[in-house]
Amino acid sequence: MTKSRKLFIWGALIAGTCSFGIGLIFFRGWSHQKTPEPLAQARQSPIPNLKSVSPADSLNQDKPLKSPITKDIIVSVPKQFEGTTIREAKLSGQNKVIALTFDDGPWPKNTEHVLNLLEQHKIKATFFWIGENVKNYPQIAQKVVAAGDVVGNHTWHHWYFPMNPATSADEIDKTAAVIYQTTGVKTDLFRPPGGFLKNGLADYAKQHKYLVTMWSDDGPEFNRHATWQTMVKDVLDGAKPGGIVLMHDGGGSHYKTMEALPYIIDGLTKRGYRFVTVPELLKLQQK
Ligand SMILES: [Zn+2]
Repeated sequence: MTKSRKLFIWGALIAGTCSFGIGLIFFRGWSHQKTPEPLAQARQSPIPNLKSVSPADSLNQDKPLKSPITKDIIVSVPKQFEGTTIREAKLSGQNKVIALTFDDGPWPKNTEHVLNLLEQHKIKATFFWIGENVKNYPQIAQKVVAAGDVVGNHTWHHWYFPMNPATSADEIDKTAAVIYQTTGVKTDLFRPPGGFLKNGLADYAKQHKYLVTMWSDDGPEFNRHATWQTMVKDVLDGAKPGGIVLMHDGGGSHYKTMEALPYIIDGLTKRGYRFVTVPELLKLQQK
């Protein structure tokens, strides 16, 4: 083979490889644009393997975290409750304990307002977090855990629509990963957004031994016309031993809940209630 012929063959090979590569890039760009948003996001953000990361790892590259938490914190439920759904703990009328729960955070101002009130009254509560909010407000998340409160998984996007197993897995596993990387917490608690039990999320959660944590008392959290006074009254009227009270600190101003909370705490205390976290509630039922 002559030298010029060799050069020609090499040139053709290189040109061919390059144009194939460029074609591939264009094709991938096009196919990503065509992908509906949820799937595109899922693909761009692979789920970190929980076993291979350590707390405060590099999820938030632009906002480096200085986590005060250096050890794992395990939020578990008694074995008999793994993979089940509860709305309350079954306790006798004498056992006046109740669990306050706060959804959709962490959230600026509100979460800290709640933490201050809890601390004043020496109460621990349970927070169900949205993964995206943990990513956006890592320092607030760390404050909740440092205060000794308990944390559960409330999915990444708070979607209600039916999801296939892959999307359900992404919603829950990504949230578990960001909670762990931000705070060192590994939690067995899951709360389905909107309380929807049939859109795929609760099924995935139960298969993975989460406790699907519903509630017995929502006050009028879903009634836009309720005043903070009716909220207080409804929570107090609905309170029962072993009850789980649903409130929200994230996803909006929730000013009525913030206003009502001190009165809810006072009212329940005057009625003889003691406040516990969801895992503590279940341990009491187990006894
Ligand atoms: Zn929610």
